[in-house]
Amino acid sequence: MLLLSWGSAWAQVTAIRAGRLVDPEVGTALDNQVILVEGSRIKAVGPGLAIPEGATVIDLTGATVLPGLFDAHTHLCATLDPSQDGGEFLLMSLRSRAGYRALRGAAHAREMLEAGFTTVRDLGNAGDYADIDLRRAIKEGLVSGPTMLAAGRIIAPFGGQFGVRTRREVLEDPEYRFADTRDELLKAIRENIFFGADVIKVVVDGQRYAYSTDDLRFIIAEAGKSGLKVAAHAQTKEGAHRAIEAGVASIEHGFKATDEDLALAKKNGVVLVSTDFPEDVLRAFGWDAAGARRVHGNQVERLKRAWKAGLPIVFGTDVMVEVQGQTRGSLALSYIDSFVEAGIPPRAILQSMTVHAARLLGVEKERGAIKPGLLADLVATPRNPLDDIQALKQIHFVMKEGRVVRRSP
Ligand SMILES: [Zn+2]
Repeated sequence: MLLLSWGSAWAQVTAIRAGRLVDPEVGTALDNQVILVEGSRIKAVGPGLAIPEGATVIDLTGATVLPGLFDAHTHLCATLDPSQDGGEFLLMSLRSRAGYRALRGAAHAREMLEAGFTTVRDLGNAGDYADIDLRRAIKEGLVSGPTMLAAGRIIAPFGGQFGVRTRREVLEDPEYRFADTRDELLKAIRENIFFGADVIKVVVDGQRYAYSTDDLRFIIAEAGKSGLKVAAHAQTKEGAHRAIEAGVASIEHGFKATDEDLALAKKNGVVLVSTDFPEDVLRAFGWDAAGARRVHGNQVERLKRAWKAGLPIVFGTDVMVEVQGQTRGSLALSYIDSFVEAGIPPRAILQSMTVHAARLLGVEKERGAIKPGLLADLVATPRNPLDDIQALKQIHFVMKEGRVVRRSP
């Protein structure tokens, strides 16, 4: 083991021999590269770099190395089980206390990391800030998981995404932070920031009443004063229009967004986090086979329109169900198929899972590429994903911040 000084600390040097190194940003795949990692950061990248004496050498000469993947829309601490809760968020929340949700979140976090996701943006549905606690536990090394950006409580008009009309005090569950007036919005945003939110998540249109464009502008301005971006769940045509018109950082889902609004999104710098559900995930949400096929088809059709409109699309999955034989990580990777069906080429899919996502999350100076100075978040797979994007489903090596977290033969 070679120890070099890095500031006042001493850091271990690791040399990764990569058979092929993919840069999603420029779309290149370079043969026989060496990546030198010192502590948590990439020190140098290039062909034929001298490997310092005593460095730990990782032989990935038979593999393709690429930046760690991002999922910009997770709910690690949420699990809907339609056989128990009918797919209703309030019943999901009432069935599990925060401790269980955090523990389950920790299991999901490990599954995501092992599948190749080194960074996730977790967008609420974590009850009483289980997401913030999970982020802390991962940071402290108590549990294994991706770097997490967390939203805290989802801010929404009264009722959030609850469909059950029950007693008012039951509705005041921590799952959502209801806010309708400007004063309530201000308090809700500041409360989330105080408790540690990295991003403000709003549900624009979970009920018949929705936030107006001006409400959303107010939310963006208040969050922006503390340096936070706004992610807006929009499930209706009008909701998508308002979020895009207001200029949120990302519109989540946007399944009903019109071509005009997708063009406006490009102009306003709004990113689409598309979350196009595979059919088996929709069935786990409670759809029958025909319904799942129809909904999936409509979502892929919107993804095609968004790709044509030319706005940045960021990979996000919104998984909050269990599918037998799958992990949260393998389920997340299965969303790649929706991009393939929409005719999006491998390089663009890779960009949506790395550089575009890093920019949306505001971490592009630290993560999302394999360059000197950045944190060493990288993965490897036997085949080149630029030739066949399905190679991402065979990731067998994962390094997060310079530490090997998965290495399969
Ligand atoms: Zn979601």
